[in-house]
Amino acid sequence: MDLQLKGKVILVTGGAKGIGAAIVRGCAVEDGVPIIVDRDANAARQLQSQLESSGKTAGFIPADLTSAQDCSLAVEQTLGDFGRLDVLVNNAGVNDRVGLEHGSPEKFVGSLERNLLHYYNMAHYGVSALKRSHGCIVNIASKTAVTGQGGTSGYVSAKGAILALTREWAVELLPYGIRVNAVVPAEVMTPLYEQWLATFQNPEEKLRLVTAKIPLGKRMTAPEEIAAMVLFLISGQASHVTGQHLFVDGGYVHLDRALT
Ligand code: NAP
Repeated sequence: MDLQLKGKVILVTGGAKGIGAAIVRGCAVEDGVPIIVDRDANAARQLQSQLESSGKTAGFIPADLTSAQDCSLAVEQTLGDFGRLDVLVNNAGVNDRVGLEHGSPEKFVGSLERNLLHYYNMAHYGVSALKRSHGCIVNIASKTAVTGQGGTSGYVSAKGAILALTREWAVELLPYGIRVNAVVPAEVMTPLYEQWLATFQNPEEKLRLVTAKIPLGKRMTAPEEIAAMVLFLISGQASHVTGQHLFVDGGYVHLDRALT
């Protein structure tokens, strides 16, 4: 299947590690031009040089996405260096546990800055270029937007808003042929997830409890499995798919909880 990504300039926020890095690698394999926008310069440069040493092209733009100015500069630099923007993948985020009781109004706003505002800012600054390229957007959400989690009001409201904005932007951008979709992961083994597991006294036991509840295969989703859905959605093969929320979660959210 030809994904028609050759030469496409694909900006991936949080592209240095985890799900974002898998998306970046997948784009490079398809001869697209992934641009990593991330604050982890070491991981980003390492990934960039790995890709370049295998003959691929990849960009890196250091940015703190909680700054609207950095979002604007990331788009500007992409256009300056590569002349176009074909795809925006909004991916960076962190489940930062700003809860109802163990939080504060200020911490809640901080969580929205880490998880929501840059999704809007990147799309806002990128939309003119996407109109010119007839491009598309994929937003990475989280199952917690529809299941809740407890103790993480900021993250969950950001992820809920991301699902709503996916529909909103799909409608607003219809006249330009810009497709907008969301991918919804549940439990994916990434550096962020490993950090979370490490907060438990017995991380192996916690992981066993989590995977026991994942219907398909009783295992974590691999970052590459999220990336595969993103690659499809940004490809020419998904040319009539827009406004969708695609769950890549081994059946975690929708299948019968009584499954053993
Ligand atoms: P990850 O392993 O932490 O990788 C994310 C990358 O984004 C890191 O390099 C991180 O840098 C960077 N980043 C985060 N916030 C940033 C900011 N404000 N400015 C610049 N760079 C930033 O995370 P992941 O697990 O791949 O998660 C990716 C997305 O999937 C997130 O939106 C997350 O909510 C979503 N998701 C993940 C899971 C899961 O199970 N892993 C489940 C549902 C949804 P630092 O390391 O310096 O923070």
